[in-house]
Amino acid sequence: MNIEVWQGDITELAVDVIVNAANETLLGGGGVDGAIHRAAGPGLLRECEQLPELRPGVRCPTGEVRATGGHDLPARHVFHTVGPVWRDGRHDEAALLANCYWQSLRLAEQMGLESIAFPAISCGVYGYPLHQAAVIAATETMTWQKSHARPSRIVLVAYNAAAFKIYQQALANAGPAP
Ligand code: ADP
Repeated sequence: MNIEVWQGDITELAVDVIVNAANETLLGGGGVDGAIHRAAGPGLLRECEQLPELRPGVRCPTGEVRATGGHDLPARHVFHTVGPVWRDGRHDEAALLANCYWQSLRLAEQMGLESIAFPAISCGVYGYPLHQAAVIAATETMTWQKSHARPSRIVLVAYNAAAFKIYQQALANAGPAP
């Protein structure tokens, strides 16, 4: 099992791909999306603008993922995924969030990538409770690694010390019983 928790700014990671918690427009936003666009430079926005719109303003529906290059980032690629907006937990939020992880892992495998880093998708402006999102992140990544060789290195990025602890706990709880 090679899933690690790392605390810091995801834009600093020299992995094959970092995942962006984007919105459906893919035209940038605040939080980690803003940080990624700032660090990647204007080429990232230009590439996102070229991605086809499925309907007006929607380049990536919630739960799906789109790939771009990493531009000025140390990461080679960026996967843009759109997490669910938390309402009350009864609007498919858990399944949609799980899809973000699973579809990103599947795309990484298809592209032959070895290392991937995830931020806490939906846990900022979108309001998903971090404890519950961390359980989904741990469960999806561990389940993936049991039956897939790639990506061989998965990093769950915690932006602060509290998130770091929550992720570690979620991974420990999702692991096999001793
Ligand atoms: P969402 O709209 O999906 O909720 P946000 O960007 O608002 O996305 O927040 C997602 C998570 O990313 C939050 O837990 C936030 O603390 C974290 N975050 C914000 N900036 C960074 C960064 N530079 N690196 C890693 N994580 C970040």
